[in-house]
This record gives sequence, C-alpha cells and structure tokens, in this order.
Amino acid sequence: MFDYHVHTEFSADSKMPMEKACETALDMGLKEIAFTEHLDYFYPNSEFIWEFDYFQYAQKVESLRKQYEGQLTILKAVEVGMHPSTYEKSKKFTDDHDFDYIIGSVHIVEDLDLHNGDYFKGKNLNDSLETYFKIVHAYVKEYQDFNILGHLTLIKRYLHFVKSHWQQVKWENYFDIIEDILKSLIETGRGIEINLSGFRYRLDCTLPNLPFVKLYKELGGEIITIGTDAHSKHFVGKHLDTGYEILKEAGFEYITTFKKRKPIFHRIDSLF
Ligand SMILES: [Zn+2]
Ligand SMILES: [Zn+2]
Repeated sequence: MFDYHVHTEFSADSKMPMEKACETALDMGLKEIAFTEHLDYFYPNSEFIWEFDYFQYAQKVESLRKQYEGQLTILKAVEVGMHPSTYEKSKKFTDDHDFDYIIGSVHIVEDLDLHNGDYFKGKNLNDSLETYFKIVHAYVKEYQDFNILGHLTLIKRYLHFVKSHWQQVKWENYFDIIEDILKSLIETGRGIEINLSGFRYRLDCTLPNLPFVKLYKELGGEIITIGTDAHSKHFVGKHLDTGYEILKEAGFEYITTFKKRKPIFHRIDSLF
C-alpha cells in the first residue's frame, strides 16, 4: 500500500523525523511513502513560516532512499497551498525543484484561514460551504501546476465554527459546483486524493467520502491517490484500508502512484 500524504519535520506543523516515518511505513507494510511538505506562501495570522528548505529536504530523502533501497520507495512531493497572490512564486518553487508529485490544496479561502475560524466569521453554514467550493473551483482553474487536489472537503473539519457537523449537511446541494471542480481536474489530467485526516479529527469519514468519489468516477476521473496526511508516527499508514474500500465501492479498479510527475496505475486487486 501507498501513503501519499505525509508531513515531517520539514513542515512547520510537524516534528516527525523522516526516519521515524520510514520506520513506521515499513512496520505498517507500506511499499511507498510520499513526503508532502507544506508550502504556503500566503498564510495570514500564523505563528509558523509555511516554507521548507528544499536542499536539506532532498538530501535527507536521498540518504533514506539509499538506506531503504529495495524495501521502501520514498517520493519527493510538496503540498502547495494555493492562493492567487502567490501563484507565480509557488510555480517557480515547484519548477525549480525536483518533485515526484505535487498536491494543490486550499487552506486559505480568499484571505481567511479555515483552521482558526476567521473564515467563518459572519457566515452561516450555507454561505460557508457555497463560498468554499466556489473558491476551490476558481483556484483549481487558475492554478494548474499540481497533480492532485488535496482534501476536497477539508471544510468538514471546521464546521463547528458554524455550530454544525458534516452529517447535518445536504451535500447534494453543492454537487453542481463540485462537478465543475472535478471536471476541471479531469480535463487537465489532474486528480483527487482520499485524505484520511478525518479520522484524526474524529469525523469518522474520509475527505472526500464515498458520494464524492463516486461522482468523480462517474465523471470519468481515473487519477486518485490515498494519503493519511499524518503529522506524527501515530498516523502514518493508518486507515489506508478504509481508503481502498471506498475506492472499490466507487468502482475503481486502479489506484495511482507517481514518479517524476507522471501517473502510474496499479490494479487494486494485485496489492492485497
Ligand atoms: Zn492540507
Ligand atoms: Zn497535508
């Protein structure tokens, strides 16, 4: 199995040594792990600097690749936080460095942070969701330098700011705009991920969950990865089975991995 979304000490919000992540990956029986460190050039009101030292990162990956040769494939990747004010700078960073694949994520909606609740001030549940998906659509159309859209339904983690819970939402109401997001990705050879951080946030669901993955499949989507979004060793490789179950239920026979930004498809049956 493959864990395609992991943050280590090279991300501002993780202290996990890369070695620890590799050890855990082997213990969990993984074949591949992708280190998708944060690059968020625009992050208002944050105590962290969401950038990383590529040179040191790459050196570390190279040394671990040697150490784990034949046992574990280690990918160089990055999670780019998309924002119109930093498209050019972010693209330059990913063009100038060597990555196996790139996740594009929306953490900041317009100029407001989802995570600290600023985004939700003065909005009700419907406004929050509608604006969120519209912005994701706009960013996905405007910024195309990534392979996989990160956690399509990230907003689920933060609905307590509007005194709600994802199970109370009629998600079908937003499927028109979600369809537009998925079509934009499919038409440009990009894909989505099944992000397992919902388990870390006690939501008991993946981001996105089955109805969204089914919709993606129906629209012709093929490129799809699964990642834990682990920030500590406790989550590396966890709940991946749930991700594979959802893939199969949605009708997928293949899962995607990447090398040098090119997708590779593996029959799911052959992995178990
Ligand atoms: Zn993210
Ligand atoms: Zn992440």
